[in-house]
Amino acid sequence: MKITFFDIYRNAEYKISKNTNSGMGTGNNYGTSYLAKIQNKLIKKAIHYPPQNCLYAMSILRVSGNDVNYSEKLIDNNSDLYIFTSSIVNFETELNSIKEFRQHTNVPFLVIGPFAEIQAEKYIDSDISGKTKIIIGEPESFFYENKKNNLLQVIEKSEKKIYSKNFYNLDLFPYPAWDIVFKSSERSNMRFLGNKKSVTIEGLRGCPYSCSFYCCYPNIQGKKLRIRNPENIFNEMCYMQDNLNVYNFTFRDPVFSIDKKNVNLLFNLIIKNKRKFNLCIETQLKDIDENDLDLMFAAGVKLIYVGIESSEEEVLKSVNRKNLSNNNIYEKIIKIEKKGIFVKGNYILGLPNDNYESCLKTIEFAEKINCTFAQFTVFTPMPVTPAWKNYKNKLDFKKYEEFTMWDLVIKHPNLEKKQIEKLKNRAALYYIKPKYIFKNLLKVFARAIF
Ligand code: SF4
Repeated sequence: MKITFFDIYRNAEYKISKNTNSGMGTGNNYGTSYLAKIQNKLIKKAIHYPPQNCLYAMSILRVSGNDVNYSEKLIDNNSDLYIFTSSIVNFETELNSIKEFRQHTNVPFLVIGPFAEIQAEKYIDSDISGKTKIIIGEPESFFYENKKNNLLQVIEKSEKKIYSKNFYNLDLFPYPAWDIVFKSSERSNMRFLGNKKSVTIEGLRGCPYSCSFYCCYPNIQGKKLRIRNPENIFNEMCYMQDNLNVYNFTFRDPVFSIDKKNVNLLFNLIIKNKRKFNLCIETQLKDIDENDLDLMFAAGVKLIYVGIESSEEEVLKSVNRKNLSNNNIYEKIIKIEKKGIFVKGNYILGLPNDNYESCLKTIEFAEKINCTFAQFTVFTPMPVTPAWKNYKNKLDFKKYEEFTMWDLVIKHPNLEKKQIEKLKNRAALYYIKPKYIFKNLLKVFARAIF
């Protein structure tokens, strides 16, 4: 059977991703100032990955004997089944794509991803033929459970919402089908690891931490950790390098170093086998053991994303976020960067207890740390999170596509939209401070060749 995945993106001046936010997606809209617009353009060019569930779903379907294709454009290639990826950040565009493409074919459509689950009726109703169905749950699980069945018959017999609520360990699945993405000559890159080929990889899913109040990961992937075998992760990396010439790996784990034992096993495998990889990981600072920094560097970790969120204790408390003290954050980041590993500090403006001054303090704290990258998003109560219930009656948006994580979509008690825009533009100055230019700029450009 011929199957095509449509991974459709709206036109925007900034980067739109469905790979982030556990598949809900993000839109890096850094602001309206000249500097912010430059950042919008640079990041759009520098980083792009397809969604994780699509990569695994393609590989499972291919192993089941199907001819699987991937496209970021609507193309009629006589497939027997078209599968649309979904996200909040492209929602209205995706509805229009389904509507538009139905005019070209009468075959069934499936929609996958967490936002399709939340807005199932809207996706179903966008297709007048009634032949669009939604997978509720991880699509990998559905395709894996039906790998020996006639998929078209299963879909035909199913209700409009197809439930597949089991969570599987990713080790059960074939490696993500990056070759199919590369074959379609679509974009896939991560220039901050260098200009060699890049892919995403997952070492685990799930997160048990208390910031689940506002974060999508534990609410979509579950709080229980699904940890992969380090040997299988290593073998996947070697496979990607030997067969697809991939050197750069961005780990999409919510907290990469949460299981120190397995992480160190993976690092030791890389070192022992003399593999040269460039790794980007995301983790909590408190889960990085300073004694392991040499090991991390030797294994190829070049960039670490850490959530800092806010410099203000009361603001952090309001969202159940537990951080190291500000002094410890500062000292730890300095130590990591001294080892030659770049750090990106992630901050959130407009958290529930924030006001203009507290946001300014967070930006100034980021400038004091002065790490290689700093990212300032805007507090957004996503529909899967407990925060959504708190703000359900205080929402202020016209389209779901405004849920970029960089735009204010609520009536905030202390901040107006224009103040958030002003803060974003203020935050964009981060990269032109003399202190920043002196410490960071050359080394960033040396690594990221645009
Ligand atoms: S630790 Fe990170 S992934 Fe886990 S809930 Fe907090 S913000 Fe989300």
